[in-house]
Amino acid sequence: MAAQFSKVLIANRGEIALRIQRACREMGIPTVAVHSTADAEAMHVRLADESVCIGPPAARESYLNTAAILSAAIITGADAIHPGYGFLAENAEFADMVEAHGLTFIGPAPAHIRMMGDKIAAKTAMAALGVPLVPGSQGELSGLEEARAVAGRIGYPVLIKAAAGGGGRGMKVAQTPDGLEDAWRVARVESRAAFGNDAVYLEKYLDRPRHIELQVMADAHGHVVHFGERDCSLQRRHQKLLEEAGSPAIGPQARTRLGADVTAALARLGYRNAGTLEFLYQDGQFAFIEMNTRLQVEHPVTEMVCGIDLVREQIRIAAGEALGYGQEDVRFAGHAIECRVTAEDPETFTPTPGLVTAFHAPGGLGVRVDSALYAGYRVPPYYDSLIAKLVVHAPTREQAIARLRRSLAEFAVVGIKTTLPLHERVVEAPEFQAGDYDIHWLERFVAAGS
Ligand code: ADP
Repeated sequence: MAAQFSKVLIANRGEIALRIQRACREMGIPTVAVHSTADAEAMHVRLADESVCIGPPAARESYLNTAAILSAAIITGADAIHPGYGFLAENAEFADMVEAHGLTFIGPAPAHIRMMGDKIAAKTAMAALGVPLVPGSQGELSGLEEARAVAGRIGYPVLIKAAAGGGGRGMKVAQTPDGLEDAWRVARVESRAAFGNDAVYLEKYLDRPRHIELQVMADAHGHVVHFGERDCSLQRRHQKLLEEAGSPAIGPQARTRLGADVTAALARLGYRNAGTLEFLYQDGQFAFIEMNTRLQVEHPVTEMVCGIDLVREQIRIAAGEALGYGQEDVRFAGHAIECRVTAEDPETFTPTPGLVTAFHAPGGLGVRVDSALYAGYRVPPYYDSLIAKLVVHAPTREQAIARLRRSLAEFAVVGIKTTLPLHERVVEAPEFQAGDYDIHWLERFVAAGS
């Protein structure tokens, strides 16, 4: 029989904790849920085989409390920990601690988490492996003078970015030489405040790129495959709102070429488990911006077109199994779209925690809803506002859009405001329907309010 874990602790909450539980259950692996006192009634706790309260509501005292989470794993006899996304998923020290306690971290090697967590190190490593980058500084900027020199060479506008960046923080545009000093200063202050590190670098600011990312999976035996691209260009404040697989902007040839380059690079790196390489795509060119060493929020669109369970693959690989198939076995069928539904006002984007009095999720052929909501659930104010992912799949993009439109019309979340109305507007926009949008389009669309 194949190697398998005897029990997996899921160090997360909400829809992603449920998502991981579902994969474990289908594999016959018991799960342990952890939760803060605010989440005692949460669905991921209700559906788990066992659960452990790990602290008060504040994330740093519960879902980021490494000692409490490790203790929970040890007392329940779990032999592996799945971190989900967010929280501890890209914390190399936590991955080290898990391994030091004789447990398995379901994710990449800590050294690779560390490397990709430093965006400068990530870009240096990828450049050495032949992956194309956005033009910019060679590593960390030594000072404002170097920023001026590099910007002068590559041309304005430019972007100052935090080496430790994430969630779009520590990123500032300078449109002209006059704006450079401010951008440099603000990016450093923001980065120091958010990440305790003010190392910054500079990139050419692309005016109309698409955000296209490639999903990869690698086993511990040197096999690497990719599961195609996702187009995540629909963003607000550098945060993704809607994702598609495949990208309306590239065809199978570009996918195959990019996939071959990336899988070769990761094989040379000795990378293991799931990863996503993010690129900006403009004028037919891909330029690497960062790599995420974890499962992504938007992974379901890839699962729908490839017919694969990415969490199951992560767990199998972490247990030491080989992938067991090659790139030629990966098939792409149809088109998938995901809407991130959040507990936010659809116009002002202020969070709207509170009591959900009624909940009805859409269904039918090609519709998937990943959510931990239920009628009577109170959305807590302490965590990320994502409450549901609506994913549709159909043979063509046009049919997927029709399915999305009717699914959104069926979806009812009563008691709190959500971003469902915004998604309903986006689906009707001619630019969206034509697949003709870049990373700046949604912001203009929201601002226009039409
Ligand atoms: P974070 O880790 O904070 O999410 P990323 O490097 O992934 O930062 O960038 C987030 C988003 O910011 C991208 O998806 C894109 O929309 C925008 N962005 C990043 N780099 C550039 C660039 N050089 N030019 C234009 N937009 C960019």
